Amino acid sequence: MSTAILGQCLCGATRFAFDLPTKWVAHCHCTMCRRAQGAAFVTWVGVEAVQFRWLADADLRWYDSSPGAQRGFCAHCGSPLAFRSERWPGEIHLTRASIDDELDRAPEMHVCHDTHVPWVILGDDLPRQGALTA
Ligand SMILES: [Zn+2]
Ligand SMILES: [Zn+2]
Repeated sequence: MSTAILGQCLCGATRFAFDLPTKWVAHCHCTMCRRAQGAAFVTWVGVEAVQFRWLADADLRWYDSSPGAQRGFCAHCGSPLAFRSERWPGEIHLTRASIDDELDRAPEMHVCHDTHVPWVILGDDLPRQGALTA
C-alpha cells in the first residue's frame, strides 16, 4: 500500500508523482544549484527512478547543466523540478519545494556546504558536508 506523492511547477503545466520511500533528502549549497534556482541553496529529494513518473510533461524540458547531468524544468513557467546524473544512475532528484505533501523524512544534511553563501545563517544542527564524494 503506497500513497503517491505529488509535485508540480508554479503554473501547473508540469506535474509528477512518485511512490515512497524516498532515498534521502538534503540541502545542496553548490554553486550550480544556487544559480539554476536563484536561491541560497536547494533542497533535493532523491527517489528511485522506477518509483517516479511525470503526470503532465508537455512543457518539461531538460538541459545539460554539466557533463553527464541534466536539469529538468517547466518551459512555460521556468520552475526547476528535477535533476538526473550519470553519478546517480537509476535515481531522480526532485526539488523539495515543488512537493506540498509530507514526506517520509525531513532533510538530513547539508551537502556542498563548503560553497555556501555568507548571507544566510543556518539554525539547524544537521551534518554539513563539503563537496559530494558519491
Ligand atoms: Zn510550469
Ligand atoms: Zn547542488
